[in-house]
Amino acid sequence: MRRHLIAGNWKMNLRRESAVGLAQAIAEHPASKADIAVCPPFAYLESVEKTLRGSRVALGGQNASQFDDGAYTGEVSCAMLVDCGCQWVILGHSERRTVFGETDEQVNAKVLKALAAGLRPIVCVGENLAQRESEQTFAIVRRQLDQSLAGLSGDQMRQIVVAYEPVWAIGTGKVATPEQAQEVHADLRKQLENRYNSSIAQQTNFLYGGSVKPENAQSLMGQSDIDGALVGGASLNSATFLAIVDACP
Ligand code: PEP
Repeated sequence: MRRHLIAGNWKMNLRRESAVGLAQAIAEHPASKADIAVCPPFAYLESVEKTLRGSRVALGGQNASQFDDGAYTGEVSCAMLVDCGCQWVILGHSERRTVFGETDEQVNAKVLKALAAGLRPIVCVGENLAQRESEQTFAIVRRQLDQSLAGLSGDQMRQIVVAYEPVWAIGTGKVATPEQAQEVHADLRKQLENRYNSSIAQQTNFLYGGSVKPENAQSLMGQSDIDGALVGGASLNSATFLAIVDACP
């Protein structure tokens, strides 16, 4: 039985005081059926970690370097995220792929480093609008899944959460219908079954991301292969974020 996970991606938003206030409100939410994680900007990880201490809300980074240490100006390593109290890290987000040119090979290198450091990666895949309109969705997300997770053993795969985030639905207010999201999730789960086995495929959480809001959360979370959400805009307000958490079955 998979437990839903609702992860908030705060992106490059908030300031220390508002980040701590948001974390506090989320930490005070009574126990729910879903697991919760928040991914603040690097600069506020330690302040948010202090606020979340003793709560059931986990901390994550929004990205990590594929390198360990050394002359990599501006980078933050997986070991540093662990030092800051992170259990999770988002890797291969479409904004990293499109704005910063990250490739599947780099995402794969980061996934391997994150696992070696003891972090659980949330690996993002998703097609853009042109790819969806030219019916390439399945080919694109299968390739991203395959290449981003290259070389992972079954045990390593058990640490991975996959987020399907159609790029055309991120921050646009356009949400994939529950049926559109479900069919991609089911296809990706099938890919994992072919690659590993049914136990790993059935155990893996697939999150949907792309304009998830309290109004659409229940119908999305009710799909059999949607095991939670990666939430951007709606995670910046405790009321909307927690309404999504409460929408989990
Ligand atoms: C995201 O960036 O991961 C995301 C899903 O953003 P939004 O919820 O704002 O579409």
